[in-house]
Amino acid sequence: MDGVRLLSVLPFAHRFLQNADSMEETASSAKTISPSILAIGMSNEDLCTRCGTCVGACPTQAIELDDRRFPRLIPDRCTECRLCHTTCPGARVDYLRLTQLTFGHDRDDPSFDGHVLETYMGYCTDERIRSGGAGGGIVTALCWDLLKHGDVDGCIVARMNPDVPWRGEAFIARSYEELLESQGSKYTIVPVNAIFQEVRRLPGRYAYVALPCQAHGFRLLLAEEPALREKIPYVIGLFCGGALEPNLVTELLEARGIDVGNVREFKFRGGDWPGRMQAVLKDGTVRDLHESNYKDGAYNYFTGLYMPKRCQTCIDGSGQFADISISDAWTRDDQGKYLYESHSRMLARTPAGVELLHRAIERGTIVAHDVTRDANYKTHKIQTKRKGTNAPLRVARLLRAGNGAPIYDRPPPEATLREKLTERGASFLLWMGQFRWFRFPLMKFLTSRGALPLIRFRLWRKKRKYARSAKRKASKSN
Ligand SMILES: Cc1cc2nc3c(=O)[nH]c(=O)nc-3n(C[C@H](O)[C@H](O)[C@H](O)COP(=O)(O)OP(=O)(O)OC[C@H]3O[C@@H](n4cnc5c(N)ncnc54)[C@H](O)[C@@H]3O)c2cc1C
Ligand code: SF4
Ligand code: SF4
Ligand code: SF4
Repeated sequence: MDGVRLLSVLPFAHRFLQNADSMEETASSAKTISPSILAIGMSNEDLCTRCGTCVGACPTQAIELDDRRFPRLIPDRCTECRLCHTTCPGARVDYLRLTQLTFGHDRDDPSFDGHVLETYMGYCTDERIRSGGAGGGIVTALCWDLLKHGDVDGCIVARMNPDVPWRGEAFIARSYEELLESQGSKYTIVPVNAIFQEVRRLPGRYAYVALPCQAHGFRLLLAEEPALREKIPYVIGLFCGGALEPNLVTELLEARGIDVGNVREFKFRGGDWPGRMQAVLKDGTVRDLHESNYKDGAYNYFTGLYMPKRCQTCIDGSGQFADISISDAWTRDDQGKYLYESHSRMLARTPAGVELLHRAIERGTIVAHDVTRDANYKTHKIQTKRKGTNAPLRVARLLRAGNGAPIYDRPPPEATLREKLTERGASFLLWMGQFRWFRFPLMKFLTSRGALPLIRFRLWRKKRKYARSAKRKASKSN
């Protein structure tokens, strides 16, 4: 085991032993495998992104996923080949190596957006795809463009499991209707990369939609198995502010008095853009699960209460190692109103990403305009703070205290006292979120009608902020 990995594993040895108890129960007569040769999730859950790469990489199907989507070892099947360890992006994220693997050079770009060749803003021309999308339906549009022109045989995407509608799963969409099933963001854990087990056995080529951590695992797997690149020529990345623990869905339903057994479908962003969390009941009734929309009345609260441990220490918010990354378009006008409803922003990073984007425009699948040189479209100020300052400060603090955190090959940023205090406050809230007696009543209140004045107050403050900054800009230009 290298020193860095040992550092991240040691403080959690006791937790490994607890996990190992259950492992040994399943394999009391089985061999014991050293955790140092395995992917991190099997010894330290706090460092596991639940990306599923270890499951997808294992040549002997020796890893399965438990109910919370963490990997579990079947020791008798393990040949101790270490592949799951080498391809795991949980304990260590080496930006230089990922840069080399993705872009073929050594120039790590530490900005929030990372390497970008071209930036576009746009939407899908097919109204069903556009209206069903989280933003402008661009991810699904790019997949559909490749599929309908025979450039790929299928797309690796995510959906909510039709039988267990509060659980996300990966699948291969091979038609327009199947792509529609995958639309919209599932703000929950989906170990997408486990599907590589299946993809490896299938003929054909596939597009792959991935969150940043999933793309990290994929790049590491490609380094071990270059033939996979032939099968998966396109990585369409998503921006990511954090997934949410799977228990959010069941607790939200409970808070609204809905029996999970009565739910046919769960939507994270149902209805009109930007959408809201909704449950479709077995009798077809659609129930809104919170007031206001997902952006102003839910996601920002939930990320404070239900964000998984590993997401709290994740610093890639823009899918830096995809061929093209897609984000929401949250640009606002002077009144704080969204300028680009049902639009997405596209950051083409590699020649493959640029080609994919240009072809979809030429073929009329998407409408998009080039904003590469317009700084107004760098709009992720909150995420830049969360992932560019808060998360690295948290990582540095956890490591100093001898607690587990992923190791990055980037130094923590210089921070003011205010930024340090902000990180402490956010971390305290996240820590409290692990206790149901704290998070459940708070979530129930924040998503109820009672919280509407609070939401209105926040929106009023936002509006004031935008008006002030417009005034400042105007006086500067005079
Ligand atoms: C957990 C999560 C956090 C996000 N955080 C941000 C953020 O902070 N800022 C931001 O700008 N954008 C964020 N996004 C991306 C954003 O929500 C939209 O997905 C993106 O703008 C694309 O919209 P679209 O209309 O083009 O995609 P659509 O056409 O709606 O397609 C969405 C695609 O995302 C895939 N997908 C959905 N959920 C998952 C998942 N859990 N794992 C893997 N693939 C999935 C689907 O398979 C589908 O292909 C996040 C997405 C997720 C899933
Ligand atoms: S590969 Fe992914 S799912 Fe497996 S242990 Fe590592 S981080 Fe967790
Ligand atoms: S066989 Fe290899 S990849 Fe599979 S669990 Fe064992 S060490 Fe990991
Ligand atoms: S925040 Fe990071 S670790 Fe969490 S789901 Fe997003 S990319 Fe993965």
